[in-house]
Amino acid sequence: MSAILADLTPGNLPQLKLVYKPKNEVKRCCACKRMQNVKHLNSSRRCKACAAELGRRYYLKQRDKRLKYAAARRETRRAEAREYAREYRRKNYARLVGDWKRRRDAHKEENAARARAYRKTHPDHHTQYLYAHPEKITEHNAKRAARLLANSDGTLTKQVISALYENAKHCPYCHAEFDGDATPRSPKRKSLDHILPISRGGAHSIHNVLICCRSCNTTKAAKTLEEIGIVL
Ligand SMILES: [Zn+2]
Ligand SMILES: [Zn+2]
Repeated sequence: MSAILADLTPGNLPQLKLVYKPKNEVKRCCACKRMQNVKHLNSSRRCKACAAELGRRYYLKQRDKRLKYAAARRETRRAEAREYAREYRRKNYARLVGDWKRRRDAHKEENAARARAYRKTHPDHHTQYLYAHPEKITEHNAKRAARLLANSDGTLTKQVISALYENAKHCPYCHAEFDGDATPRSPKRKSLDHILPISRGGAHSIHNVLICCRSCNTTKAAKTLEEIGIVL
């Protein structure tokens, strides 16, 4: 008994105030300004509903932050992965070309059948894509032009190129005769081929180009003659 009395010294009063907090005191919630019994107010004097609302808002705010962070992370990660894949392809190109060719050969018939069926059901897939994404064409052309310029030795003027086109009679790869009336997408149309592709470090130079047919150029794409098994 005497111990309790001894605790009632002025220095200990604040603690005792907490213990004997009057339960029926009414105060204003600092957020919604409604009067509330203090037992429903938390330590920052918010009522339960306002505290919950604050928590929800905080959660949403953090969620946005979290989502943004995750998206940014994904984006960087994707760019890294793309860069890694590009580097891997560059390093292992010769082997990969072999892998791709083997896979293509193994599924030649079914792939061709699928492509035929798709073309039948989507006759203007390509054209529609180009119409739908004019900016992609512009971008592609600009990139290509910049690459050509960067790799150019100045020997391929417009005149030189048109002379090359004019003098070409047969495709040096498949020996087919060029089709004089070829439509823009005809496989036997003449096209300018970079023997060592620009993307593989070839020069835009008279010493690195020839006129071949479109289908050979498409097949060759970014491969070297060695990789595609052509000997000129
Ligand atoms: Zn409130
Ligand atoms: Zn050809």
